Amino acid sequence: MARKVLILGEVRDQSLRNVSFEAIAAGKTVAEGGEVVAVLIGDSVSGLAQEMIQYGADRVITVEDEKLAAYTPDGYSQALMAVIEEEKPEGMIFGHTALGKDLSPKIAAKLQTGLVSDAIHVEEAGGNIVFTRPIYSGKAFEKVIVTDGVLFATIRPNNIAPLDKDDSRSGDVSQVSAEIKDLRTIVKDVIRKATEGVDLSEAKVIVAGGRGVKSEDGFSPLKELADVLGGAVGASRGACDADYCDYSLQIGQTGKVVTPDLYIACGISGAIQHLAGMSNSKVIVAINKDPEANIFKVADYGIVGDLFEVIPMLTEEFKKL
Ligand code: FAD
Repeated sequence: MARKVLILGEVRDQSLRNVSFEAIAAGKTVAEGGEVVAVLIGDSVSGLAQEMIQYGADRVITVEDEKLAAYTPDGYSQALMAVIEEEKPEGMIFGHTALGKDLSPKIAAKLQTGLVSDAIHVEEAGGNIVFTRPIYSGKAFEKVIVTDGVLFATIRPNNIAPLDKDDSRSGDVSQVSAEIKDLRTIVKDVIRKATEGVDLSEAKVIVAGGRGVKSEDGFSPLKELADVLGGAVGASRGACDADYCDYSLQIGQTGKVVTPDLYIACGISGAIQHLAGMSNSKVIVAINKDPEANIFKVADYGIVGDLFEVIPMLTEEFKKL
């Protein structure tokens, strides 16, 4: 059955996050030959519409207002509801990001429909659209079929491959005006921690440090390795609690959930709460001086040794490639 599917494009620092393109690819599957309509919300976002089309969106709708310059739950839901009322989509896909996790349940509640959250795969099977999502902290997977209402899902970043970018694709770009009013939250200023490099949740390579790193300075060899590999640095809660790094780097049950192509765990024991955030990574390498460490149970490759000796050797070898 052909459907009209709305995709929410996520904008950060005037550029589109990769999950926006992954959502288009998921939307194509859900649309089953129907239309994929991308929605961009912000202060001035129409300049990004063409890129959504190049990644496969059939059409783009922008909602622009200076009150939408920063994300607020009220502002974005008013903007999105204006589009939904006009377009009446049969499917919707958002990223399972901080923004998507906040906004999607509000929209689902307003529409009195269900929500499949954190899907890592979507396919057509036996006449149904089937979403796969991890459960029990990634120890099992469930397949979900939506039988009623809007086919609404959030997708975990880095799991669904985007379509190849194609400059010859074309599509309409239009505007919907929404009255943004009665905002209970107004963002006056965004003060960012100076984080360098690649966004952790979208990184293809993550070099993560645990309590075994021993100090803030102990993260330096990990940063160097991450730089050589074009990746990001992450951490266990043990390292964050010990004040070796900022909590924004925490991976796990109460931190970020990541699925990079390569996860290098350094001096991390592999507590169940940490595994919940990284065990679905495509290739896991563990470096730990304790051969009995739990992290080796999920690792594809294990190096038993002192991380301060092993990491510089790896960095030197990767530099040669
Ligand atoms: P440790 O368990 O102390 O492990 C350090 C490891 O480093 C050891 O295996 C040791 O052998 C190794 N090591 C030491 N020196 C070296 C060296 N020189 N070279 C190589 N290896 C070395 N944790 C998370 O990570 N993320 C979460 O989101 C999270 N959420 C939690 C939620 C709850 C409700 C609770 C109760 C706990 C949560 N935790 C979380 C904490 C979790 O249980 C562990 O305490 C934590 O993950 C341990 O961090 P770690 O592996 O860095 O430290």
